[in-house]
Amino acid sequence: MDRAGSGDLGKGIVMATEQEGPTDHDYESEPVCPYCGHREMDAWEISFGGAEGSTEITCGQCERDYFCEKSITVYYSTRALKEAK
Ligand SMILES: [Zn+2]
Repeated sequence: MDRAGSGDLGKGIVMATEQEGPTDHDYESEPVCPYCGHREMDAWEISFGGAEGSTEITCGQCERDYFCEKSITVYYSTRALKEAK
């Protein structure tokens, strides 16, 4: 079986070995482009439809669109009250 000439077969599967692909970024202080790593410093201008939500962002550097989810983390800090004696 000589498979020469059928070179296009099997090319549908691309192994993610040494290939530079998009990178996920979780819980960053700004949206980070998964393609080029550009940080979107004007994220406060982006509408997420509320305090939390998700939208598509066009990277200001490579101009590719990517998905961004905004989430708010709430922290509670407590202090003991001074005991009245
Ligand atoms: Zn980018």
